Amino acid sequence: PAPPPYPALPRRKLKVATCSLAGCFGCHMSFLDIDERILQLIEHVEFDRSPLTDLKEVGRCDLGLIEGGLCNAENVEVLRDFRRQCHTLVAVGACAITGGLPAQRNAMSLPHILGEVYQQREGLKTGCAIPNDPELPLLLRQVRPLHEVVQIDYFLPGCPPSADSFWVFLTDLIAGRTPRLASGPIRYD
Ligand code: SF4
Repeated sequence: PAPPPYPALPRRKLKVATCSLAGCFGCHMSFLDIDERILQLIEHVEFDRSPLTDLKEVGRCDLGLIEGGLCNAENVEVLRDFRRQCHTLVAVGACAITGGLPAQRNAMSLPHILGEVYQQREGLKTGCAIPNDPELPLLLRQVRPLHEVVQIDYFLPGCPPSADSFWVFLTDLIAGRTPRLASGPIRYD
């Protein structure tokens, strides 16, 4: 049998922003995997700051999707600003929800990791130093999930969440329904 039609979206265009912190950008790529459904989406959604628009500053938004965890002070600042501007904030993917892959460094001390990478690794020239330019964002001692710093309204799990998860989640939210994902579309691969 033919699949059921996607639910109709409301008439008012919602402002949506997306942002990436300490992640791999894979969640954004998976979102783009909704493919031609994005044409249906943009009839009901206007993108603010997002790689789709290349806007650098986020304005007032109805919905913010944010991928990646917190690994440095700049991530925290961007997250707080994003939270202030977004009515509803969604932590997207394992990195945003738990710290994800970057949080594997939490088992080691920061000085140990920096020394290993910049000074003790095979093939480095002698006398290499750990970068300490004041322009560089200060690293956090550990990679942390977003909900430890700001209130998160929804969590969209997966690594990355599948395109169908994004679609079901967004169409539910935009239509004013509480998003409910079945376990099927949630995957970690
Ligand atoms: Fe990349 Fe997975 Fe993290 Fe998304 S959750 S940013 S896909 S590592």
